[in-house]
Amino acid sequence: MKNLSLAHQSAQDLLDFIDASPSAWHVVKTLETQLAAFQFQRLYETETWQLENGGRYYVVRGDSSIIVFVHGEKSVAETGFKIIGAHTDSPSLRIKPNPTTTTANLERLNVEIYGGAIIATFADRELSLAGRVNYQTENGELAQSLVHFPQPLLRLPNLAIHLNRNVNEDGLKFHKQNELGLLFANVAEQLPVSQFLTLLTSQLPDDTARILAWDLNVFDTQKGNFWGANQEFFANGQIDNLASCHAAINALLDERILKNDSTLICAFFDHEEVGSESHCGASGSFLTDTLQRMSDATSQSSQDFARALARSFLISADMAHAYHPNFPQVYDAAHTVHVNQGVVIKVNVNQRYTSDGVSEAMFMRWCERANVPHQMYSHRNELSCGSTIGATVSAKLGIRGVDVGNPMWAMHSCRESAGVFDHGAMIAVMKQFLINNAPAS
Ligand code: ZN
Repeated sequence: MKNLSLAHQSAQDLLDFIDASPSAWHVVKTLETQLAAFQFQRLYETETWQLENGGRYYVVRGDSSIIVFVHGEKSVAETGFKIIGAHTDSPSLRIKPNPTTTTANLERLNVEIYGGAIIATFADRELSLAGRVNYQTENGELAQSLVHFPQPLLRLPNLAIHLNRNVNEDGLKFHKQNELGLLFANVAEQLPVSQFLTLLTSQLPDDTARILAWDLNVFDTQKGNFWGANQEFFANGQIDNLASCHAAINALLDERILKNDSTLICAFFDHEEVGSESHCGASGSFLTDTLQRMSDATSQSSQDFARALARSFLISADMAHAYHPNFPQVYDAAHTVHVNQGVVIKVNVNQRYTSDGVSEAMFMRWCERANVPHQMYSHRNELSCGSTIGATVSAKLGIRGVDVGNPMWAMHSCRESAGVFDHGAMIAVMKQFLINNAPAS
């Protein structure tokens, strides 16, 4: 019998994690707070690393990608690296460099679309801004602050149906250049400084700051909620892929797991939603550099490093497309996966997913040991399949991996949803992977 109150606990913890992390930069900050409670020490790429066996460390690149690791007592040449990968970013709207346009006494924010967002889902919601601001201080130095406006600041109102008579027949569409300006302020006259800059400056520690640039994410201020007759579902923004980051870090942050003598790694990357090609993305050098430096810091030979990679394994965790009963035609009927029915193993022979028969079988056994059901997903043949960080990380490191994730509805909507039972199940199977003492392969 499934335990609903236990499932609610881990899902509520996830909803709180998402609510505290309205941008990829805030995801890293939230994780750092969690890691501090478990005595993790930050390493800087600009410094020389000295690692202790059993030591707990993390490295940040670009403020929005983070690699967390426990340096095992045993040599990595004997145990391999056990890696869980996920991504910190979610599709959304971002504020352009020239931020505002004023028309008819209304200041609007100019936006660019980040990743494959379902744009219409951003309409008629209480939106706001979070991200980082780069500025010059009074002393002429460059500085940076994270900013987060919890109150609704922005809105993309729909047209009334009387002005858009065919909306229900044609679907809700916004022209990507002309119709996405976010309503922000009523301005009686042309002000010398835009209200947007005034508001941003108010968030900085130094009110004489001269703002130079920003990376600002538009997010939905509505908090996460449970829904359904038994509250067995939940909704929030950014479930793809903060649910996987949260599951992985919670699997790791367990004293039984942390005292394991293998080297355990959680690697969370920005820019997955735009192809991972960046200095801190999964196709960049961040993970390779970090593994190499871990090996160098403990004087492992290049032979040992190669042996370590040959014994390593990657779980690439990202979300999966749950069956939606109103649209049965969009699924491969033999490979539907269902909310609250277990974790999903994702298979694509064209290597959009990194799974193969060997890695699938290994993951199935970790599921069995964790007493967690699993489901198999394969995309319809005539539809192009999404991808994850799995294939690129496997290829760069030359290590075997499996793509997994939990079933969810409305992936890339401003308001996504999933099932409370699957989240705890994913944490349980990830713990099995991390604690299993045998070399991964
Ligand atoms: Zn994703």
